[in-house]
Amino acid sequence: MDYKIRNLLKAARDREKSLLRLLRALVELESPTAENAAEKAALDRCLDFAAEAAARFGATIRRHRCRVLEARFSAGPAHRGEKPILLLGHLDTVWPLGTLAQLPFKIEKGRAWGPGVLDMKAGVAMALTALDLLRAEGLPHRPVILLLTGDEETGSSASRELLEKTALRCEAVYVLEPAQGSDGAYKTARKGIGNYRVHVTGVPAHSGVNFEQGHSAIAELARQVAVIEALTDLKRGVTVNVGTIHGGTRSNVIPAEAWAEVDVRVPRASDFARIDRRMRSLRAHDKACVLKIEGALNRPPMERTRAGVALYRQAAALAGELGIDLAEASTGGGSDGNFTSALGVPTLDGMGAVGEGAHARNESVLLKHLAPRTALLAAMLMPKER
Ligand SMILES: [Zn+2]
Repeated sequence: MDYKIRNLLKAARDREKSLLRLLRALVELESPTAENAAEKAALDRCLDFAAEAAARFGATIRRHRCRVLEARFSAGPAHRGEKPILLLGHLDTVWPLGTLAQLPFKIEKGRAWGPGVLDMKAGVAMALTALDLLRAEGLPHRPVILLLTGDEETGSSASRELLEKTALRCEAVYVLEPAQGSDGAYKTARKGIGNYRVHVTGVPAHSGVNFEQGHSAIAELARQVAVIEALTDLKRGVTVNVGTIHGGTRSNVIPAEAWAEVDVRVPRASDFARIDRRMRSLRAHDKACVLKIEGALNRPPMERTRAGVALYRQAAALAGELGIDLAEASTGGGSDGNFTSALGVPTLDGMGAVGEGAHARNESVLLKHLAPRTALLAAMLMPKER
């Protein structure tokens, strides 16, 4: 075992208490994706806190108008000129303000619990701790840019441009999303996500008096749903889900309107083009009904690339030195890593905490993985030649 790697693990263990303090503070600063004034103020308080912590650990801070915190950790003279590593995280959570009253932060049964603890405040606390310990131990690291966004859970529309621009200047992107499963695999592939709204306008009529004059938007939509769901191709990993359906007014009125919302997941960009064509070529069976299809690909797939796998292999080798058996995984869920990977920037995802229950009431992180995974993150920030 390389002595520096062993030092990293010990240094991470020594910092476990302060990491948990940091995590608790982040969780207790509730930060839903900001849609109203109260949420914006709450998210800003959480970003302020993270900015202060990053500054304490040696970062230069910049706050962007799109509610993104940029913290730059410059390297020592030997590595200053190198392209930076981008550490990518988000501080927004899916939990509304006030959740903490029912789900307070607690440490119990070998886990830390609380809203946003796994997705992804622990990842943020780990990244800050990794940078703190590299500095305190006097270990060299590459230039690092930590970007923390505030709108990931709703699709990253405000932060996307900045994070893509930043990623293009970087050597690689490490995404601080939770690792996969109870063994905490890193993710080298994510499906792309598309969202559609299929709207049908029919012809309303009294269901008793003028039945024949009516053309039911619901009946038309029902036929479309069957066609849309048939686009699923599990062998190719393509899934199409009609997730919501709405329509009609009363049982004695032939419905004039009906609409459905559709979620599409594709492993490859080429699959998306095919599904998109099929969605856009949907035609009404009942010629008196009008179909309107809106939507597009929101996140491109993060395809399993050679560069991404090389990053995983580098991590797996370092993990071995730390006594971690690091697996590789892919997922149907999206992250901001989808954007950076689609730009061709080598991206490794799932480098945050190990736990379960993201977006659910049992959201929690396993404490035993915090220090080793923090050490691994630190090792991945060091220059390759040690
Ligand atoms: Zn997340």
